[in-house]
Amino acid sequence: MTLQRTFTIIKPDAVKKNATGDIIKQFQDNGFRILAIKMLEISKHQAEQFYAVHASRPFFNSLTDFMSSGPIVVLALEKENAIADLRKLMGATNPANAEEGTIRKKWATNIEFNAIHGSDGEDTARFELSYFFAGYELAK
Ligand code: ATP
Ligand code: MG
Repeated sequence: MTLQRTFTIIKPDAVKKNATGDIIKQFQDNGFRILAIKMLEISKHQAEQFYAVHASRPFFNSLTDFMSSGPIVVLALEKENAIADLRKLMGATNPANAEEGTIRKKWATNIEFNAIHGSDGEDTARFELSYFFAGYELAK
């Protein structure tokens, strides 16, 4: 397996809980190399663009309000099998179903305020990385 890149967001709920440092440490302890990192706030419109695949879902309005409600931390990560391994480290969308030792088990409040986003495939990883980072911002 060759190196793979993925994209993650530490969501506003986790930033407010001061979980940022712990989550970044978990990335590094689990073999992810940080290629880029920044904290920012996104607008409602940007959240709608980013989560456009969910536009028809009943939770879309609430989700995009949430994602634009405060600072987020976005990262580009690299490791072998990064996309699937990050999803495993994150845990299930609903923390009630998340395994022990996962980030959502530790930090998520509920199925919506669930601490972290991770790309779910190669195409989404490419789109999401390019949405938030220019090529020159990624470590070599
Ligand atoms: P993410 O895409 O953020 O990594 P995910 O892939 O585990 O999470 P998705 O099904 O893609 O889950 O949903 C995107 C996000 O929408 C979830 O992480 C959560 O914040 C919110 N969400 C999902 N399902 C619900 C729901 N039933 N009610 C409220 N919010 C939801
Ligand atoms: Mg998803």
